[in-house]
Amino acid sequence: MKPLYLKLTDDQIIYSNNVNTLGKAFYELNPKLNFQENLQTFKNQLDASCDVIIITNPNKYILKKNIFLFNKVIIDFGTELENIFHTPVINFDDIMSSGLKAAFKKELNYTTWHLDYYGLDHSKRQYGQESMQTVGNGFLGLRGSYFESKANDDNYPATYAAGVFNQLSTPINGRNVINEDLVNLPNAQYLTFSIDDGPKFKINDKDIQESLRSLNMKDGCLTITLLIKLADGKELKIVEKRIVDLNNYHDYYLQYSIKPLNFSAKMTFYTEIDGSVVNSNVERYRNLANKHLEIDKIQNNTDDAILLAHTNQSKINIAVKSHLNYPDSGIYSTDNTSEIANQKVEFNASEGTTYTFEKNVAIFTSLETKNDLELTINDHTFLANFQEAFAFNSQAWKKVWQQEDVVVAGDVTAQKLLRLNSYSMTTAAQINANKDLDISVGSRGLTGEGYRGHIFWDELFDMNFYVLHDPELVKSLLMYRYNRLRAAMDYAADDDYQGAMYPWQSGLYGDEQSQELHLNPITNKWDPDNSRKQRHVSLAVAYNVWNYYNSSQDEKFMAKYGLEMLLEIAKFWIDKSQYDETSGKYTIADVMGPDEFHEGYPGKDDDGLKNNAYTNIMVSWLFKELHQLLENELSDTVSENLHRTNFTNEDIKKLNEIRQSLKLDFKADILGQFEGYFDLKEIDLEKYRQQYGNISRMDRILKAHNDTPDNYQVAKQADTLMALFNLRETDFLQIMNDLNYPIGNPNKFITDNIKYYLARTSHGSTLSRIVYSMLLLKIHDDSAAWKLFYEALTSDYYDIQGGTTAEGIHLGVMGATLNVVTSYFGGVDYRGDMLEISPQLPKQWNEIDFKMIFKKINFAFQITHETIMINADQDTEIMFLGKKLPLTANQTIELTF
Ligand code: BGC
Repeated sequence: MKPLYLKLTDDQIIYSNNVNTLGKAFYELNPKLNFQENLQTFKNQLDASCDVIIITNPNKYILKKNIFLFNKVIIDFGTELENIFHTPVINFDDIMSSGLKAAFKKELNYTTWHLDYYGLDHSKRQYGQESMQTVGNGFLGLRGSYFESKANDDNYPATYAAGVFNQLSTPINGRNVINEDLVNLPNAQYLTFSIDDGPKFKINDKDIQESLRSLNMKDGCLTITLLIKLADGKELKIVEKRIVDLNNYHDYYLQYSIKPLNFSAKMTFYTEIDGSVVNSNVERYRNLANKHLEIDKIQNNTDDAILLAHTNQSKINIAVKSHLNYPDSGIYSTDNTSEIANQKVEFNASEGTTYTFEKNVAIFTSLETKNDLELTINDHTFLANFQEAFAFNSQAWKKVWQQEDVVVAGDVTAQKLLRLNSYSMTTAAQINANKDLDISVGSRGLTGEGYRGHIFWDELFDMNFYVLHDPELVKSLLMYRYNRLRAAMDYAADDDYQGAMYPWQSGLYGDEQSQELHLNPITNKWDPDNSRKQRHVSLAVAYNVWNYYNSSQDEKFMAKYGLEMLLEIAKFWIDKSQYDETSGKYTIADVMGPDEFHEGYPGKDDDGLKNNAYTNIMVSWLFKELHQLLENELSDTVSENLHRTNFTNEDIKKLNEIRQSLKLDFKADILGQFEGYFDLKEIDLEKYRQQYGNISRMDRILKAHNDTPDNYQVAKQADTLMALFNLRETDFLQIMNDLNYPIGNPNKFITDNIKYYLARTSHGSTLSRIVYSMLLLKIHDDSAAWKLFYEALTSDYYDIQGGTTAEGIHLGVMGATLNVVTSYFGGVDYRGDMLEISPQLPKQWNEIDFKMIFKKINFAFQITHETIMINADQDTEIMFLGKKLPLTANQTIELTF
């Protein structure tokens, strides 16, 4: 093991590879650079890498090791160093007590399973950390805020239940703007204390000496520890824990321990179920109507409280029950208001004794509860105590990790954040809950109110992960779309189309939730919002159905629901494709591609774009898959579905004609993002980069100059090349052939197009970098791919969009990142009839291990730079280096390459 020893002073990092020579070499901390930049500069000037960093200073702080002051700000130096060096950071003290090897192992284990924040943070940064530390189970999401906090500029405690949406109308500038939101539910997490009948303790900088918020992803428990020193000198230690039950998905459990450190006094513990909450997570929505709940009833009996409420438009009934466990000597009382169930417990606290309060909470809604809600909540019982709930929940998480963990050797940051991605995918949806729910995953999971909790095409980026780990869950998520097929058909009919047109933003009912107009704050005029023209969302739904079917072979689902969805979606596209006499090709007009910067042609507001390459290629793909399905499926299934959807022979004929003659636009071998794209002006992104630094939202920059991205060849994210993200290269090339645009030199075509579009992309969406990273791997530009991969992996951790994580994590990039690791770095492609293996392990990593389910077979992979170990639990075959290879059940084989 190669160690790097460090000693930190106020302005220097003194370093050496040998503890005995520490003192000679140093790095001068530059106060003009921020802390991370300093560490990066320090790392760049070292001539050798290291496997472990050992800080030789003693620890001054109690709650976490390796905390130091820099520029008068307290910094978690250990974590920051780990984030830059990607190796464990330990303290010399640890080696003294347990030896280097054991200390290294302990830290490696700790840091790759924990997401920690030391100290209090503020405003959007704190909001973002709360999003990241959300605990949840697919039904419930509890943001990771302090129990003692109420919504303000620094804290946003919120509770969401999947699918609970409500619409409110706000009069703005002569219009009534209606928005449908994922509702912030009554807050039963509020717990705090007072001393000697003084004021209730609030989160504040003055009193909190130390704070550590630690999410243990392994067992799903968020622990917050506070060391408090009040103005009168009284000191306390508070430990607050929360878990959301993965099995009994209605329940969550809180534990609150108070220890007076240097005093004895009368204390009071307070808790609430606060039904007065509103939706106020997103700053720019705050002037819109935001009160979604009406309280129907509050009742207390001894230690239990029940609050019944309903959403005021969607009329979803909500029942919250809590049960308190508190020390025997405590005196319980209640003091309800019209919207808040208030409970308190008075107790005599003695110095040095820990007093533990537990609150078990259940939330039921009329969406998933078929029986009478009030009876159900009254009858509901909890596990005996926090400890028991914790033990069961840890077991449930263990099972999750056995299936989902993607293990990376040689990079603690990547390991931690990949685990965070899997963790977030699980808190957004998991089978124990979702089997009973009629919902899919929103773009922010259940962690915040950004995009109002709506469901977008982002499902496509999440579904791969779910498909490979929990096919049953995917079925349930797809049923959300199936249950809204009629709504999608109504939407198509409203626009005079046949078939199904899924909405760009989907909520409770499956009708369109994107706004039609938005108010331009500069001109105070209503401008059209064309984002709804991203009709490609229906193709994402179709892709997800196909993806699930291909890997699960769930014939029943296909016969009953899947094929019907595909046929209705196809009908829409058949109707939308218009034959153009002059070109002899079909044209799809009035759409937007995934690149949301282009809403239409220069000077034209309403017409959308023509022949978006991504849309046309995916339509051709869908029609081809359908054509094959209609040929290969059991004839009864086919005829029953054709009959059910009234899909005629004429439709089949058209489908086959259109799939071979949709129009694309080219300039030399560059495939145009849409027809007329090459007429747009080139943009000098470098010029803007120099002026603005961050140019990811080029649309906003241009609009501020009274200009529009419609005029330029500039993109927010991958558009044309998304087809190559979804489809295997061979399938993509075959479609280009089918469309009569054969690609003579695929390598050159792919390389040229990636380079062309990458140079014109500003990465204004978190989805952008991960797609390009995968594309760059395709052309073996490993270092550029790695850079984008890492930016995607860390995008929420560093909140690279400067505040959007405050409104919730970005689930799409999390799912896609896991997919790039297993499908591209690990090289296991599951999009064919059998798995095809061709790893491309990054040089920065030593090994990746992961599991997946494909065609009902459980696979386990261990991949290094030279070897692949594969285990399958049934006899099967895989493709390796272009050859079929048999696998025998439960016999691990080792391949070298
Ligand atoms: C992206 C879309 C995405 C949406 C929701 C936007 O910023 O451009 O592709 O669907 O966010 O995540």
